Amino acid sequence: MRKLIIKLGRFWVVLGITLVSILLSLTAAWVMMEVTGVPQQDFLPRALPIAVIVLALVVPLVSWYLVGLFIRVHSLEAEMRQLASFDELTGVRNRRSFLDLASSYFEVARRNQQVFSLLLLDLDHFKFVNDNHGHLGGDAVLRQLGRQFLDITRKSDMLGRFGGEEFIFLLPETGADELSHFTERLHGVIRDDPIDWEEQQIHVTASIGITVFDQENCPESLNLLIKQADDALYRAKREGRNCSCRYSPTLAQMRWSDEPKRVNGETL
Ligand code: GH3
Ligand code: MG
Ligand code: MG
Repeated sequence: MRKLIIKLGRFWVVLGITLVSILLSLTAAWVMMEVTGVPQQDFLPRALPIAVIVLALVVPLVSWYLVGLFIRVHSLEAEMRQLASFDELTGVRNRRSFLDLASSYFEVARRNQQVFSLLLLDLDHFKFVNDNHGHLGGDAVLRQLGRQFLDITRKSDMLGRFGGEEFIFLLPETGADELSHFTERLHGVIRDDPIDWEEQQIHVTASIGITVFDQENCPESLNLLIKQADDALYRAKREGRNCSCRYSPTLAQMRWSDEPKRVNGETL
């Protein structure tokens, strides 16, 4: 019903309400005529003007106001939902909304033994970006990257702002094989599209920590999985930044799958 009202718009809804009220009123008049036994020629001349003319004047006025109010409340509600779930600066989900969505997905994936990947991306030396270009310059970087990350993710992927300059991705049904292509794209987008800010270009890089949920690595909670990605991110930072590291459960303690890969001078 709600969707129908929004889809039709104020004018058509008011017109519909007016026509329906006139129709109902005429029906009520006819029923009363039948019940009271008043002859049609006596009743109709009095009932018709009331049913048609008065309603045609009053109903549109009242319903125009009420339908307008309904549409306004609906759009405010949508706005509030957007503000509660999405980060205003970057346009991606906020931490809480991401974790809610990812937790539900995690439970289903665990039950059905589905493979998926989790990535933590942290911008490198972002403090310097703020120091050199001001906080607004830093904000411009985060805004552009948020948009670009949304562009390169699929609709089914989940993307959130995990902290200040940290983004988190959950890629359903994505295993290790498809991952390297995705991380290459991420590094590529960050590397190839410097941010224009006050007649200057801001170049940034990012470090990425990756973990894959599969048969060999199925921790009991999403938190543990995030911890794995965070450990991998820490490793990527230690490896010199601007690279991706993947957590591997098969190796003891440090559990790193492989060394960060460097291609064309860039670390992937
Ligand atoms: P590292 O490579 O080790 O990650 O270094 P870093 O400088 O990126 O990390 P650090 O944690 O020292 O600093 C993060 C910086 O990100 C500091 C903080 O002011 C900045 N930051 C966090 N949130 C925002 C934001 O919303 N806008 C801007 N402009 N800066 C932010
Ligand atoms: Mg950070
Ligand atoms: Mg950082």
